Amino acid sequence: MTMLQETAEKALQHGKQFIPQGKVADYIPELGKVDPNQLGLCLLTTDKEKICCGDVDHRFTMQSVSKTATLAIALQELGFDEVFSHVMMEPSGDAFNSILKLDLASNRPYNPLLNAGAIEVISLLSPTSSFDELLSYIRVLCMDTDIVLDEDVYQSEYLTGNRNRAIGYLLKSKGVLQGDVLKTVDLYFKMCSLSVNARSLAGFGLILANGGIDPYSGRRILDGWVCRTVKTLMLTCGMYDGSGEFAVRVGIPAKSGVGGGIMASADNRMGIGVFGPSLDDKGNSISGIQALEYLSHELNLHIFESQR
Ligand code: GLU
Repeated sequence: MTMLQETAEKALQHGKQFIPQGKVADYIPELGKVDPNQLGLCLLTTDKEKICCGDVDHRFTMQSVSKTATLAIALQELGFDEVFSHVMMEPSGDAFNSILKLDLASNRPYNPLLNAGAIEVISLLSPTSSFDELLSYIRVLCMDTDIVLDEDVYQSEYLTGNRNRAIGYLLKSKGVLQGDVLKTVDLYFKMCSLSVNARSLAGFGLILANGGIDPYSGRRILDGWVCRTVKTLMLTCGMYDGSGEFAVRVGIPAKSGVGGGIMASADNRMGIGVFGPSLDDKGNSISGIQALEYLSHELNLHIFESQR
């Protein structure tokens, strides 16, 4: 067993202790059916070491982690100015589906990792990108050709998604969202319902950590500035309204989703994928955060760790 494998196993055991303190998401009926006692960790390093422990093969839906993917694609395809003329780059401190600041304080959504911002970004992509094209792009970003739409979760999102439709209509009423609201929100539901595993999220984190280049093929998938921009927003806004505390304690750019996934990207070192469906009160994987904090300390992954 390598030193990295040993550290990952210990991080897994450490994280598991916290599972009983959280609970699985149940605001969408389909998500409530998952076994909360699972935890999987996958580490893919830039020098091609692969570490997997725990429940790494279990498929779950990407949920809000997809917001980082659609942001990366939009930046790559449409450019920095076009994207950020429609959405800001500021942490909001509000819940992921909040409508408050959008209604009262601003016309543009606060950032692309909140529902309002992600829906806006998808509205920019939808005239030129179909669901199938976005799916193919995400398969490349995650280095996982097996990603498909989870129909049951998608139906559940669709049937319960009126708040997201309300966000879409509010954006439309402000003249920020172009195009058809219901089609845009439908594409957003589909992005949330893509089924990934911890390995796929580690793959995405690895491409971001490696400046946009897939280290296995040597192929450039994203420009360096796209990775830098996405990772910065992950650090400031990626863990819902727990982003500040996560940045202090763990210090690795990361994005979570209510399906229990966390995609983390330790610059020049590794991508880390986590699956732990027991969530804290902010909607982040409770065991996943603990496992990442353990890894950050043991492997010196904190972005502001001084090397001296
Ligand atoms: N599908 C979810 C929603 O918009 C995404 C939730 C999340 O992972 O934050 O309600």
